[in-house]
Formats: sequence, structure tokens, C-alpha cells
Amino acid sequence: MTPKIAFVTDFDGTISDDDFFTYIARRYFDDKALTPWREYLSGTKTHFEALREMFSKLRAPETELKSFISEIYTDKEFVRTVALCFDKNIPVFICSAGCDYYINILIGEVIKNYRITLVTNNGKYDGKQGLLISKPDKTSPYYDEAVGISKASIVRKLQSEGFKVIYAGDGPPDIEAARLADYVFAKKILLEKCREEGIKTLPFRSFADISKFIKEV
Ligand SMILES: [Mg+2]
Repeated sequence: MTPKIAFVTDFDGTISDDDFFTYIARRYFDDKALTPWREYLSGTKTHFEALREMFSKLRAPETELKSFISEIYTDKEFVRTVALCFDKNIPVFICSAGCDYYINILIGEVIKNYRITLVTNNGKYDGKQGLLISKPDKTSPYYDEAVGISKASIVRKLQSEGFKVIYAGDGPPDIEAARLADYVFAKKILLEKCREEGIKTLPFRSFADISKFIKEV
């Protein structure tokens, strides 16, 4: 019998080509505005808290911000991959330590059309208070205090339901999920980390590589 397969993917730097935080920092933030990020890197602030503080400093008119976001590159092969999963009854999860505000602007239609489950923080934009993010409810099975959501807990839950999990990601917040996943597609820092830890990874330049794999499972 073919095993039940689920596909779990990161968003920033995996479906898009860089972190949303990096995009807006380049455009809207000066060096001082990046202090919360440095605090996160030095371990004095959580990932969620650093993003919350920085995102709240955004002050662009919303129409401008939305058009800036819509220019962010996303891998066009991603749509083909999720269409393939849809045809094969493979559930797809996008898990992001960022927030739904920009993800929905970029691929909201795809998420709806292919019934993808988006697990992330909630984001609302207000011209006077910036991009306000909030964590999911504490009762969510994927809740995490430091990040908002736990990517590893998504993988763990699917495996407990009998799924073999394909995971795709690019950054340090993906490592715990990659350690658990049955098949790992990694690039950038995640690929280096997986190699350091001896985690078996599959080649991954674009989602075309993932489609090719899914066609054969
Ligand atoms: Mg990422």
C-alpha cells in the first residue's frame, strides 16, 4: 500500500525568495529599528517579540505597503506542486513564523483554491500602529510561546496520524521539523545545518524538484 503522504513547507525564503523581514527592513527600517532583531540573535528576546516590535514600526500607507508586498518574488512552481498534491490527495501545510497578512496578499488565492492549511501568526495592518501580529490561541495544537507556532509540532501531529511527511524549508527555525520529517528538502542555512547534523536532504532549487519527487511517491 502507498503510504499516506503530507507536505509541510515553510514560506519565507522557501516559497518567497527571502524573509519578509529582510524585505521590509531594506525598504523601511534604519539600523536602530533593527535593535529587536539583534536582541533576538543574542538571546534576550524571543523571535515573536522581535518581529512584533519591528513590524509595529511600519508606517507606510496600506496601499503602498500592499503594492510593495505584491512585488515580492514567489516560486511559480509552487502552484504546480500544490495542484499535484491536490490531485493526489496529499494535504499541504504552510507553516510560518511570520504572519498571514503578507502570505495572503501573495498566495491567498492559491491557499484557498487548493485547500492549504496555513499555520502562522495573525497580522493586521493599521496605518497608525503598524503591522500588529498576534500568536494563535494557546489551545492551538501548534502553539509555541517563543515563535507563535511550532513547525515541529505540525510534523509530529501528522506522523501520529500515520502520515509520512515531506518537509521543505530554508532557515534555522526549520531545523527541528527537518530532524523529524521523513523526507527533507532544504536550501540555504537549513541545508548547511542538515549537512552538519547528518540529516538526509534532497536537492532543492525550486519547487519543480519537489514536484518531481511527489510525482513518484
Ligand atoms: Mg524560511
